[in-house]
Amino acid sequence: MLSGAARCLIRRLWRTYLLHRRYVVAINPELLEILACPKCKGPVAMVAEKDGLACAACKVVYPVRDDIPVMLIEEAVPAEKWAGGARTAKG
Ligand SMILES: [Zn+2]
Repeated sequence: MLSGAARCLIRRLWRTYLLHRRYVVAINPELLEILACPKCKGPVAMVAEKDGLACAACKVVYPVRDDIPVMLIEEAVPAEKWAGGARTAKG
């Protein structure tokens, strides 16, 4: 049985998650500005298909999964593999 305080906290976290998610879904220019390549800290740009964020300097694309940008070096897909249809770092 959850205490009232715990329930209140969960509700607040859930609301933050929903707000955050909606914010991410839009992937607006402001968010793009704060997103940076984890390798070189440089700017990333949305690819034409809107399913990835490309770093021109590192020649990699960070996938956007379920509308959430995955800004992890180990998830980066080399740009040429991305162009060939790959959407994961492995395979
Ligand atoms: Zn980079």
